[in-house]
Formats: sequence, C-alpha cells, structure tokens
Amino acid sequence: EVEISPVPAARGEDPFFFLMLFHDRTVEHEVERMRSDFVANASHELRTPLASVIGFIETLQGPARDDPVAREKFLGVMHDQARRMSRLIDDLMSLSRIEMKRHIPIETRVDLNTLLRETCEMMAPLAAESGVALEFEPPQGEFLVLGERDQLIQVFSNLIENACKYGDSGERVVLSLSAGRNRDLSYYDVSVRDFGAGIPAEHVPRLTERFYRVDAGRSKARRGTGLGLSIVRNILVRHRAELLIESELGKGSVFTARLPALKDGRSF
Ligand code: ADP
Repeated sequence: EVEISPVPAARGEDPFFFLMLFHDRTVEHEVERMRSDFVANASHELRTPLASVIGFIETLQGPARDDPVAREKFLGVMHDQARRMSRLIDDLMSLSRIEMKRHIPIETRVDLNTLLRETCEMMAPLAAESGVALEFEPPQGEFLVLGERDQLIQVFSNLIENACKYGDSGERVVLSLSAGRNRDLSYYDVSVRDFGAGIPAEHVPRLTERFYRVDAGRSKARRGTGLGLSIVRNILVRHRAELLIESELGKGSVFTARLPALKDGRSF
C-alpha cells in the first residue's frame, strides 16, 4: 500500500508545483504486525508457567493440603516454573535494552582476544556443570573492533551456553578467533564449535527468530527461553556484524560472529 500525498510547494511559489511524497505503508504495517505478534508470543510464554503455578497453589490449598509428599513435589515444580518466568523476563529486558540502543553509534574499542579469554573464564563453571571441556587457544596479538563490551560478552556467552546445552556431554566446546578479508573488508571471526547432534538444515535460517526452538519439547527440557539467538542477532546487527551458522547432523555445529576489524583506529 503506497500513500501518495501532494504537498503544495512553499507558499507564494508556483501553485502548480507539487512535491510528491511516497510513503510506503507496507513497512509500517509489517513492523506493527511483528510488534503485536511479539507481545502475543511473550504473553503466551509467560502465561504458561504462571498458569501452572496458579494451578499448583490451588491444589496445595485444597486436595493436597495435608499431603507432605505432594507438597514437596509441587513446590519443586513451582520453583522451576517461577525460575523459568524469571529467565524469560531477564531475556525480554535484554532485548528491550538492545532495542533502545539500536541507533546509538558505538565508539569504544574492544580487544576480542582479551574479551574472549575473560568470557571463557566466566563460562568455565557452566561448562564444567554440563560436563563439557571449554577450549580456547588465544592467537597472538590484539583483535580490535568497535564494540560495546557488555553486549559482546553477552553474544559470546549465549553462544557458549548453547554449545554446552546442545553439545554432547563429555565432548569439547572449542572457541576460536581468527582474522580474514573479503575484498576490501577486514574482519575477525569468533567461532564456537560443539560436537552435539547438529541442527536439521530447514531450521537453520529461522534460529534467530524470537521464541523459535527446534523440537520445542526437547529444547524446553534444557532450560532455554528461545530468545538467546535473537539477542545475539540484535547485538551483532548493532555492531555491523554477521552471524554465520554451519551445522552437520550427528557431528555438531559452528556459530561464528563476524565483526568488522578496526585497524589503525579505523574501521575497514
Ligand atoms: P534456547 O533458549 O531455546 O536455547 P536460542 O535462541 O538460544 O534459544 O536457540 C534457539 C534454538 O536453536 C534452540 O532451542 C535449539 O533448538 C537450537 N540451537 C541453538 N544452538 C544450538 C546448538 N549449538 N546445537 C543445536 N541446536 C542449537
């Protein structure tokens, strides 16, 4: 739908001169539709655990009032559900903070080499808990980019967390950092490789959609919200970076963040 509005040129000028404004309404409608879909999805995701908590409270007030075994079990389930809601709210707040900063240019420099070492240390306990060996052999030198430290840490820790969750226990998760060049663009690649079940090809293009999960039942068991990769994508867009996903069934997956390199203080 295109709206064409004739606007008379400045007063006193030739009245037959019109400026035509072409206003593409389809984009606006699409954004509006996506926003209301998002609110509907977010409400649904929150309502499900909330409904279960309400149900259990009512059971504890009524039929299970004097049953200590049921009480213990229901309290455990309610605790899990409340924590799930809390994770969802944290992720929703992250998304909205990222959204608010969307158009603010990034002026700080970050050395990816140092940042990845720090992220690796931060994620070591989670990797150990998942029975995964987290490996990173830092290359020589600095890998400077224009970046917001906290946001980049969030990107790498989300990717590492997924690799630990969906990789096979007892296997490795390997981080790597390398430099590359495509025509006149120099970039740095940060890759996170796991040796898990991999992802069927038809799902790969949709992984960064909000709430999209492959095999929701099985993924849900792994404590996700379905928002992690959309947070990753949104942060990378702000950094003018790309997310590349390669996956092979039965072998594992590689998630790569490709960031424009900053050399001699300039972005190429
Ligand atoms: P979640 O909170 O479910 O982990 P994400 O947005 O981080 O949400 O990921 C979306 C979906 O992508 C996951 O539910 C999972 O099905 C799939 N996925 C993400 N990372 C991996 C991986 N390393 N290996 C296999 N599947 C993955």
